[in-house]
Amino acid sequence: MRYLVLFFSLVSLLAIPAAAAQSGKADALVSVAPQEDGNWHVAYTFEEPQTALVFARSDNNYRSATWQLETEEARFGRVNDLDVIVFDDPAKEVSFSIVPVTSTLVADYTPFIPFGDGGLAIYEGQFALVPFESLEAVEEIEDGLPSVATEPLAMRIAISADTPIIVDGQPVEGNLQHEIAGDGTYIYLGDSEVEQFDSFTAILDASLPAWLGDRFAGDLQGIFAGLEALWGFELSEQATVFLASRGLTGKGMSNTGGALDNLLMMEVSGEALAEPDPNTLFYLQWFFAHEAVHLFQTDKDVTFASGEDAWIHEGAANTMAYNLIAAGLPDGGEKFLSSVYASAFEECVAALEAGPLETVGEREAFSANYACGDLIALATDGYLKRKTLYQFWDRLILNAVSMDDTEINRTLYFTTMQLLGATRAERTRIRDIVEEDLDDPREALTELLKTAGLNPQFDADGTLVKLDWPDYAAE
Ligand SMILES: [Zn+2]
Repeated sequence: MRYLVLFFSLVSLLAIPAAAAQSGKADALVSVAPQEDGNWHVAYTFEEPQTALVFARSDNNYRSATWQLETEEARFGRVNDLDVIVFDDPAKEVSFSIVPVTSTLVADYTPFIPFGDGGLAIYEGQFALVPFESLEAVEEIEDGLPSVATEPLAMRIAISADTPIIVDGQPVEGNLQHEIAGDGTYIYLGDSEVEQFDSFTAILDASLPAWLGDRFAGDLQGIFAGLEALWGFELSEQATVFLASRGLTGKGMSNTGGALDNLLMMEVSGEALAEPDPNTLFYLQWFFAHEAVHLFQTDKDVTFASGEDAWIHEGAANTMAYNLIAAGLPDGGEKFLSSVYASAFEECVAALEAGPLETVGEREAFSANYACGDLIALATDGYLKRKTLYQFWDRLILNAVSMDDTEINRTLYFTTMQLLGATRAERTRIRDIVEEDLDDPREALTELLKTAGLNPQFDADGTLVKLDWPDYAAE
């Protein structure tokens, strides 16, 4: 049985400039409240009169059909592939009645996430607006909103509810006002069980099937505690974890998830969830462990290089996540790891047969960054005799912090390997996988694992069945 891994990551997907909100001072307030008919009332109040406004997140055209303008002196519609509000005369208010969209969007966060137990998570980023001088200025945008230098209005969202409200891991009574910073976060309204731990707050849907709901907070605790021990520090900002159930209907299991700064969230549904299933559990553990590793990787305010160098952080996050999950299994995770790495090996071979790792994104094989990057992270660990992968990352982060742009990129990766004692031949072996068109990727990856001391073993069909897995906890 193959262990299937689906990839949904929204991290660093959109380059929308952060709202320049001064503490306490906002350009706009958006009040959001449920109406009796099931729609929501959304009312904006602006500090200065506005002429034209573009929704900062307009890639998906869902508002045209679901947002009903209530202000008579304004117009609302799709212009230049953007959702735009235009005023007849500059105005300081506009309001809408909206249908809360709960369907998942392409490459953006779900606007409203319903929890099976009646709770609701609202994505505040959907309300962010970018001001323009006129409709003509919006029509003249050539390469989409990110190409425009204008920043979103500094905005606060106001929500009042009878149920508990939780934002940034903190419970709020009655009335919430929250600054929408950067991509924003999710605001949770409802009665789901909230469990506070030292390093994270978990909001787990009370309607999750018992086999999962009863254990998952404990699993998360194990994941965070394990990572704290292995990284040797605690996160400077508490994380928030959402696990929402969309119900046990529909074939199989489907899920979507993402990370927003320190918020990690996953929505699951499907009839396969009803019965205990190790693969479902592994998948959820993998998702949260992988995303949690990213929190540790970026805790010192370093940034990831995107695109061509994504193998660096995605690969290490997978190595660390799988290692952690395996360590919690009775047999040391032997079967689990065999299955995971057999898949990773084959996926990486297939991706490299079409070209080097640095261009997998262009070839729509982005997830090869996880698979090949994982094998590279294992090899990096193996090549560095005196350092574990965690210690390598400590140094990598330290080196990034000392640079002006604090970016974890390829140059820094190979320099750090060199500083820690990897030979030129070892670095070249990895560099070739990243940059060269390989004649025989299978051979190159096998050699990578062999020379790193991982002792790869294959069965008669050529499937990778075993490696000498590192045991970081014991090192
Ligand atoms: Zn990731």
